Amino acid sequence: MNIVLVSYEVDPFAKVGGLADVVGTLPKFLKDKVDKISVIMPFHKIVEENIQKYGLPLEKVTENLYPFSHSFKYPFSVFKSHLPETDIPIYLIKNENLFSTKDIYEYPNKDHQTSYFSDCVLTFVKNNLTDTEIIHINDWQTSLIPVYLKNNYRDDKVLSKISTVLTIHNLGYQGIFSPEILSIAGLPGYLYNIDALEFFGQINFLKGGILFSDIINTVSKTYAEEIQTDEYGYKLDGVLKVRNDDLYGILNGIDYNQFDPETDKTIPYNFNKENLENKTKNKLALQEKSNLPKNENIPVISFIGRIVEQKGIDLISEILDYLTLLDIQIVILGTGEKRYEELLLKYRDKYPEKLSINIKFDKNFAQLIYAGSDMFIMPSKYEPCGLGQMYAMRYGTIPIVRYTGGLADTVKEFSCSTYSGTGFGFYEYSSSNLLIEILKAIHVYKRNKNCWNKLIINAMNEDFSWDKSADEYLHIYKRALAKKR
Ligand code: ADP
Repeated sequence: MNIVLVSYEVDPFAKVGGLADVVGTLPKFLKDKVDKISVIMPFHKIVEENIQKYGLPLEKVTENLYPFSHSFKYPFSVFKSHLPETDIPIYLIKNENLFSTKDIYEYPNKDHQTSYFSDCVLTFVKNNLTDTEIIHINDWQTSLIPVYLKNNYRDDKVLSKISTVLTIHNLGYQGIFSPEILSIAGLPGYLYNIDALEFFGQINFLKGGILFSDIINTVSKTYAEEIQTDEYGYKLDGVLKVRNDDLYGILNGIDYNQFDPETDKTIPYNFNKENLENKTKNKLALQEKSNLPKNENIPVISFIGRIVEQKGIDLISEILDYLTLLDIQIVILGTGEKRYEELLLKYRDKYPEKLSINIKFDKNFAQLIYAGSDMFIMPSKYEPCGLGQMYAMRYGTIPIVRYTGGLADTVKEFSCSTYSGTGFGFYEYSSSNLLIEILKAIHVYKRNKNCWNKLIINAMNEDFSWDKSADEYLHIYKRALAKKR
């Protein structure tokens, strides 16, 4: 089995969200289960910086290639590095103009950029990775790959043999553009059709990925069900239902070696289940770094993530005035929509003793927050998988979540009568429900230390490592191959 993963983000070369963690880690767990695995991504501007930062090698593989079908006859070159501490190759598609923005999602004509990238990937595969059997694409940015394969390259000796798997990490982002993109991308005009890429008078890239990939999966079982409903389907529920037989839900894992409180070099005090005093020391370090009064008895509640509507920021901001009346501290780390960022900063100015609002992307600070807080909130409107709650549990921090998507599949409701469960949660999307769960958690934290300590142990005992999920990926790869034969 010879697999190529294609993604717009791969940790540590370029990371915006969970997609980068997944594509940066999954190959390490598949490596020994398949014959060959490699990764392809754009050579974004930030990649060069990160390659230097992490001391990774970089060599040119080829240059002056031109995409086969795309109307942009700009040349591209391909560089090679490898995933850290592995020999898994990552190929970086370079074009000076198209991947030059500082923020990787900032390029104005994303339809031009992503369609060009998709065709470049196939051009490179045909030239240099001729034994590829499966291309595993991720999200809308790479969703034209199966569309090209099934329409433009059906008769190509190398490319026609390739099976495709699409992972949907977030159905909220689909890549919807004006129909002119078909001719720019060099795709046939007949695809402007309700049974193909047409979507309310426009072209929907993700719809193309869903219709033309051999197998589709998403990142949790619950989300795979949810996206087939009107509420979560973003108008693609009908198309997903048509592909129901080929639709899977495989939970993301986290890298248990990299994210281990016992060995994590980015946190000041390492700890494990038997040595939770050091977790408390991290809490004091977190309070100091966050400019909050140092006091180990005050519960610290944290949030890390994109500051966008999906993550339930409106619910959090609705209850901040109330929460600041309580004997708690809140640490928020994230970037996102300006209106929410500004709102949160206003609250910080109002309650500097209680709130620490950090509008930045900072991996090390994130680790300190996971290690040093007591509770971690994720009241998402929808959550395909969610990694934050898993990292939090790994570091003995108790998640308070809305039970949707992967949050429903990973957090188990606590019970102090049986000392079971790993966190707190609610179903209906409302700020009062979030508040109730936070109050419950604070109550247990303050009044029932035995139960709280057991919750920490239960959370730390959970196993969200990639091994199991990697086996499930292997299964869908086999299914994708079988479909081709
Ligand atoms: P999504 O992929 O929807 O953004 P996930 O929970 O799946 O959300 O993954 C988010 C990942 O990005 C987690 O690893 C989280 O710790 C990290 N992260 C998000 N925002 C920040 C930030 N501002 N600083 C550091 N890490 C962040």
